[in-house]
Amino acid sequence: MIEFENVTKQYPDGTVAIEDISFSVEEGTTTVLVGPSGCGKTTTMKLVNRLEDPTEGTVYVNGADNQELDKIELRRDVGYVIQEIGLFDHLTVAENVATVPDLEDWEQERIDDRVDELLELMGLPPEDYRESFPDELSGGQRQRIGVARALAADPDVLLMDEPFGALDPITRERLQNEFLDIQSRINTTIIFVTHSIDEALKMGDKIAIYNVGEVVQYDTPQNILANP
Ligand code: ADP
Ligand code: ADP
Repeated sequence: MIEFENVTKQYPDGTVAIEDISFSVEEGTTTVLVGPSGCGKTTTMKLVNRLEDPTEGTVYVNGADNQELDKIELRRDVGYVIQEIGLFDHLTVAENVATVPDLEDWEQERIDDRVDELLELMGLPPEDYRESFPDELSGGQRQRIGVARALAADPDVLLMDEPFGALDPITRERLQNEFLDIQSRINTTIIFVTHSIDEALKMGDKIAIYNVGEVVQYDTPQNILANP
């Protein structure tokens, strides 16, 4: 569970990115943050795993004030997929998925099994893809490798910034549908950011609609469609 309680974030240059935001995300559900550029969505995500800290208010992760949690453990529990994916071009797909600190101490066999399981989950048959290099993959496939890596350590929470953003419309729709299927098979609490209200309505159990630093509506897709 993640809860934002009266959270304000002002950057050192004076910019108030979000002001007095409150909402809570139930365990195992997907919440989509939607709104125009610059309204505070990315800042909200960064407050969860403490890439930024709030100026006022509290962010709770699994019931604990995240300021009181160990940062390294917090980041183990919270996976983050950034927009620019950040795959290493000189490493294979399997090596890219396994480059998370949490797997460092694992036996190679256990790492291989976990990578195969994740590639399977992402619809990339491991026998075809584990030895591929990122530049041999399409944008949609690269995106999936980024998600597989974020899931490698089996985080409780997955944050994703525009996971389907940089894709052509057809690939985007296919990946959205596959992701709906993946969501139903993992018990991970997911928060992701999009510019697209259609994507939010399709993918979210709950939607937070942003407008310059504020959440103006937080509800289910059904209720948002009923009260636009
Ligand atoms: P979004 O994800 O909705 O595009 P952001 O959270 O990235 O919004 O940004 C919200 C506001 O905070 C914007 O005005 C942005 O320019 C500003 N901002 C973001 N990061 C910083 C930073 N590190 N320092 C100062 N201002 C920032
Ligand atoms: P997005 O709109 O997807 O959030 P941006 O291009 O606004 O992406 O921001 C990219 C990065 O630059 C983010 O890490 C954000 O925190 C930082 N950033 C955004 N605005 C500012 C700003 N005014 N000053 C410093 N850093 C900023």
